[in-house]
Amino acid sequence: MRGRRLIGGVAGAMLAALALPDAAVAQGVTASNNGPLSFFDNIFTGSITNGAPQPAQRSQAPASSSAAQPWSGEDGASGNPLMTASAIRQAAANFPNCVAGFWPEASRRGVSRASFERYTSGLTPDLRLMDLMDSQPEFTKAIWDYLDILVSDTRIARGREILAQYKPQFDAMERAYGVDRYIVASIWGIESNYGTQGGDRSVVNSTATLACVGRRQAYFKDEFLAALEILHRGDVRPEHLKGSWAGAFGGTQFMPTSFKRFAVDFDGDGRRDVVDNPTDLIASTANNLKKDGWQSGQTWGYEVAVPRGFNYMLADRGKSMTLAQWEHLGVKRPDGKAFPRPSDKAYLLAPAGAEGPGFLMLQNFRVIMKYNPAEAYALAIGHFADRLRGGQPFVQPWPRQERVLSRAERLELQQLLAQRGFYRGTPDGQIGSLTREALRGFQASIGTAADGFASSDVLDRLRGR
Ligand code: CA
Repeated sequence: MRGRRLIGGVAGAMLAALALPDAAVAQGVTASNNGPLSFFDNIFTGSITNGAPQPAQRSQAPASSSAAQPWSGEDGASGNPLMTASAIRQAAANFPNCVAGFWPEASRRGVSRASFERYTSGLTPDLRLMDLMDSQPEFTKAIWDYLDILVSDTRIARGREILAQYKPQFDAMERAYGVDRYIVASIWGIESNYGTQGGDRSVVNSTATLACVGRRQAYFKDEFLAALEILHRGDVRPEHLKGSWAGAFGGTQFMPTSFKRFAVDFDGDGRRDVVDNPTDLIASTANNLKKDGWQSGQTWGYEVAVPRGFNYMLADRGKSMTLAQWEHLGVKRPDGKAFPRPSDKAYLLAPAGAEGPGFLMLQNFRVIMKYNPAEAYALAIGHFADRLRGGQPFVQPWPRQERVLSRAERLELQQLLAQRGFYRGTPDGQIGSLTREALRGFQASIGTAADGFASSDVLDRLRGR
C-alpha cells in the first residue's frame, strides 16, 4: 500500500474515542499478519473487506495513554519468528547499531549528519509496540456500534465548528483541489477527533523501533527515514511529531511516507506543517484524496433498500453496475428519491446482510478506502460527511439484536465452512471476503438468504442445530 496506515486509520481516533483501556486498544489494533486489513477485519463482523493488498498504515494506533505500559515480554501471536520474545530481546539489544546503520541511506536522502545525530541520539526501542503489532482481538464490535461511536452528535457539533472556524481555508482548498470539504472534515474528525486524539508517541522513535525490531522492518525502515527527512527539513516541529504507535501523525494521520507524497505547503510559509497548521492540513488531505482519484462534485454512495429475495451474490466489490441497472433490479433509495446520476457505476455493500441497510458505493468510496482500506471505515467517513452537511441518519435499522461472534466462534465458523467445502482460506478468526463468499455458498445450500453475514444463527446452522 501506500504510505499510510498500517492497520486501519481510524484505529487511533476510534479507540481513543472509545476510551478503551490499553489492553483493549491493543486488541483493536491488531492484526492480520501480512494481511491487508486487520484492524477492521477484527473489529467488525459485518462489512469488512479484504481489500487492497496493502498494509493499512495509518493510525493503527491507539492514541494516548500508551507509553506508560511496558512490553508484555511474551511471544507475539503472529507466530512470526521475528516476534518471539527472544528475537525481540536480541533485536532490541542491537537497536543502537541498527539505527546507526541507517545513516548512509539517510545521507542519500539529504539528511545532514548533524540532523541525523540530533534526531537519533535519544532513541530507545519501545517494545510495547510489539504487543500492539501482534495482538489478537478476542472480541469485535458490530458495525452499528462502531458507527454510533464515530458518528456522534458531539463529533458532528464539533465538526460544524471546525468548518466555520476554518471556512476560508476550506473555501481555498475546494477551489484548488475540488475535494468536498465535508469529507476532509470527516477524516479529520474521525482520525483524530480534530487533532485532539492522534496519539502521543514520538513518530521517529516508534518507526525506528519498528524498523529494527519485529516482523515489519523493511516497511518501517522507509517510514523511519521519511520521518527523519521531515525533521531535517523542519516541516513539523520535532516535539510535535507525535502520533499512533505505527507512526501516523497530524489531524488526518499521515504516515511519514504518505506525508512525503501528499503534503503541501498551502500557505506558502516554506513548511508543510500538517500538525500545527490547519491550512496545510486541510490542503494536504485534499491533495491526497485528489491524487487518489477523487471525483469533484460527486458523492461517495447511497443508502439503498434491497428487495426481499434479492440475490446477494451480486453484493460484491467486483460486481459494479450502473445505478440505473441496480434500480432495475429493485435496489432503490429508501426515501424514494431518484439517483441524480443514474449512469454512474456502483457496487452493492450489505455490511449486516439482508437484515440491515444496503449501500451502493461509487468511485469516491473507493478513494476513501485508499485512505484506509476498510469498508466500515469508509462508510463511517462518508456518512459522517453527510451528517456534517446536514444530512439525516440512515433510514433503515441495523439488526441490533445480532450478537457479535467471539474470535473462537469466528474460527469455528471458518473451520465448519472448510469442512463442508465452502471455505478455501486458512481459518484465522477474521471475517473477510473469502469467509463471506463461503457463507453465501453455505446459506444458498440450505435455502436461506445468502447474504454472507456471519450471524450466530448461521453458526448454529453450521453446527447442525
Ligand atoms: Ca505551510
